[in-house]
Amino acid sequence: MSPETAATRRSLQQRLLDLLLTTEPRQRTSLVTTGLACLLMVFCILAMKLVAAAGLADARLVHGWALASGACVLVSFALIRSGLTRNWRDPAFTHIQIAYAITSNAAAYVITGHARGIVPPILAVIMMFGVFGLRPVQIKALLGYGLLAFSVAGALVQWWGPPDAAMPGALAAVYLLIVVMVLLTSTALTLRAHAVRERLHGKKRELSLAVEQIRKLATHDELTGLPNRRYMLEVMRIEGLRAGRSGQPLLMAQLDLDFFKAINDTYGHGAGDQVLQCFAHTVSGSVRNTDILARWGGEEFVLLMVDTSAEDGMHLLERMRAMVETTPIQLAPGVIVNLTVSVGAAQLNREETLPLLLQRTDEALYSAKRQGRNSVVWAE
Ligand code: GH3
Ligand code: MG
Ligand code: MG
Repeated sequence: MSPETAATRRSLQQRLLDLLLTTEPRQRTSLVTTGLACLLMVFCILAMKLVAAAGLADARLVHGWALASGACVLVSFALIRSGLTRNWRDPAFTHIQIAYAITSNAAAYVITGHARGIVPPILAVIMMFGVFGLRPVQIKALLGYGLLAFSVAGALVQWWGPPDAAMPGALAAVYLLIVVMVLLTSTALTLRAHAVRERLHGKKRELSLAVEQIRKLATHDELTGLPNRRYMLEVMRIEGLRAGRSGQPLLMAQLDLDFFKAINDTYGHGAGDQVLQCFAHTVSGSVRNTDILARWGGEEFVLLMVDTSAEDGMHLLERMRAMVETTPIQLAPGVIVNLTVSVGAAQLNREETLPLLLQRTDEALYSAKRQGRNSVVWAE
């Protein structure tokens, strides 16, 4: 077979599988599991037909049993395939499928006469389907239902079944003992599987929380909670490319607290930290949520304003500067500091690189400091 023919056959196979099992992951998983149940049912019907052919069971009863049991799995498959159950907590309604499989199994126990030894191993396989996401309460309910169904089946065989189906009491007890053993062990194992799955889910949750925390630590400043320099450089790179493509203006501002060292020297480093937090809070509150404010290092911050005209940027920075000036920071009862900030700003020129833009905002900031601080200076 040429590679092209093999590839065409594979893709045809893939398309047929997608048609039968859909491409929606949860629905597909449910359909695969129910498909397995259908396969199991085909084997069971074959076995029952052979039992009837051997004259051990009433052919009409076996036929009726096969129709009812086969219809149940097919209807289940059709229901799941239709998408009706897609948003259910368990789209495969596993507990209901197991319940009718137990019923079918118990009915087979009644009608298979002396061949009823085939029933317990099939019951074990049915119970194995319980490992697919059943909750403990459902697992225990199915154990109760199984015990009840086989008690009824045992009684039917002894007192109401076909005359040749009745067994010596000791043999009936042995069969029922095996059935009870299958039900109990499968319940215990399914409960264990559930506990292991829960533990794994817990670990997965912990792991995703830890990954999220590490991501946050790597991209954000711990003191102010703002994006850090590394993260901001990446944002700038992306926004720079975007502005280059779209032609929309991109503004950048460097913010530096005035005489911050004096705050540290007067009130201590802890108070300085508190001031940095309050400053970050004030500025974040005065810019738009499309603007990105980052802690660049020490008492320096960078603000990136996307899709913003120079005129809007001027108003925004002036408003922010005034807001900082008019928002006193209370360090302790009766201890209040007034803060001001100097700002150097620039608009990204066509063909300009980010280091060049940063250099221009830095020079503008230096001018703001030289001109007496508490001001916004725009680069040429
Ligand atoms: P200027 O108006 O010229 O900017 O003066 P300034 O005092 O703000 O600037 P300078 O560069 O002289 O001092 C900055 C100080 O910021 C020095 C440093 O100890 C302090 N600093 C840097 N990072 C932190 C921090 O995370 N917490 C605290 N509390 N202080 C910090
Ligand atoms: Mg500084
Ligand atoms: Mg400073």
